Amino acid sequence: MKDIRLLVLDVDGTLTDGKIYMGAEGEVCKAFSIKDGLGLRLMADSGVTLAVLTGRESRIVQNRAAELKIPHVIQNVQNKPDALRRLCQELSIPLEETGFVGDDLIDLEAMRLCGLSACPCDAAKEVKAQADFVSELPGGSGAVRQFVECYLEERGLWAPLAARRFGVKL
Ligand SMILES: [Mg+2]
Repeated sequence: MKDIRLLVLDVDGTLTDGKIYMGAEGEVCKAFSIKDGLGLRLMADSGVTLAVLTGRESRIVQNRAAELKIPHVIQNVQNKPDALRRLCQELSIPLEETGFVGDDLIDLEAMRLCGLSACPCDAAKEVKAQADFVSELPGGSGAVRQFVECYLEERGLWAPLAARRFGVKL
């Protein structure tokens, strides 16, 4: 896996199982994986900037991103490649040093632009065919955790970062 400085994450189907629970007032809940969250904290600790990029708009995403201290939250995005290019420009990080995790056709072009791409095992078949890393786990159930864990393990960073944050010896 290529070195990245920015990791951009799709939300529905990537950080969640893709289900949206709707009530009369709109979206009521989405379920996120705590394991993904821990992995993303360590990814941020390693110096990689995190961002979420979603086609939908939801307060739930804002709250979850705040919990995970994800500094860039871009919602209601019609065109993910354009939004991705703008973000990279704003942060002065080239696309080649950006990773993208997505699950469906709307993510495909953004994934192609990035130096590193990943997806859950239940992503659309076209997405799985082109991702650099296909997780063994589905969206919302640890797919992102497995990706960041492998990325950091490859660099010998997983255990030291876990030790620093949690005081555990792996
Ligand atoms: Mg998605």
